[in-house]
Amino acid sequence: MNKGKLVIFSAPSGSGKSTLVNYLMEQGLSFGFSISATSRPPRGNEKDGVEYFFFTPEEFSAKIAADEFVEYEEVYPGRFYGTLKSQVEEQLERQNILFDVDVVGGCNLKKYYGERALFIFVQAPSIEVLRSRLVGRGDTAPEEIEKRLAKAEHEMTYSQYADEVIINDNLDTAKAQLMTVIKEFLAK
Ligand code: ADP
Ligand code: 5GP
Repeated sequence: MNKGKLVIFSAPSGSGKSTLVNYLMEQGLSFGFSISATSRPPRGNEKDGVEYFFFTPEEFSAKIAADEFVEYEEVYPGRFYGTLKSQVEEQLERQNILFDVDVVGGCNLKKYYGERALFIFVQAPSIEVLRSRLVGRGDTAPEEIEKRLAKAEHEMTYSQYADEVIINDNLDTAKAQLMTVIKEFLAK
């Protein structure tokens, strides 16, 4: 039995998952980050093997066929994202792992790992705030932003399946709430 625990972050795009995950990674709590695979092209300064393993749609399909994923989803039309079994198993031997996955992936990982996993849902105060954060981030094309917002309302209904919901309005408040729930979970 490997020894790590899993902390899963899910939320509509733009809610502040990456911001909170990066903050948590800096707190010295022995977390590794689960690097997902995706069939979307790199954005901005993203590098293969750092933010994601970037595959062509054909390479991604081959890995699905070879049963290499714990879970995968077509998060946006034609855009696949998935968690590689090899990544999770190898990392859990050594440390706790943070996941940043879509809401369905979050539910599937939680179902699979049960009490070993903490499923955290990050929620922006409103759709308008989500839009302005995505626009402000400045790295996503306008039509891509509209696709993500169209999905966000449905995604928010998944908050009911989470172990903890963090409303990311004031960032410092969200960070403090996050640290409280993580410390409780790791102490169990
Ligand atoms: P996600 O990973 O969920 O897509 P990000 O962490 O990239 O979201 O956040 C989206 C944008 O909103 C980023 O530009 C980030 O700096 C900004 N942001 C995150 N949290 C807050 C907050 N509480 N208040 C204002 N801006 C925020
Ligand atoms: P982005 O393109 O902004 O990096 O991510 C888009 C969405 O894909 C986010 O909601 C993110 O959480 C989700 N995602 C990233 N990796 C995975 C994964 O391995 N599995 C699933 N199901 N979703 C993922």
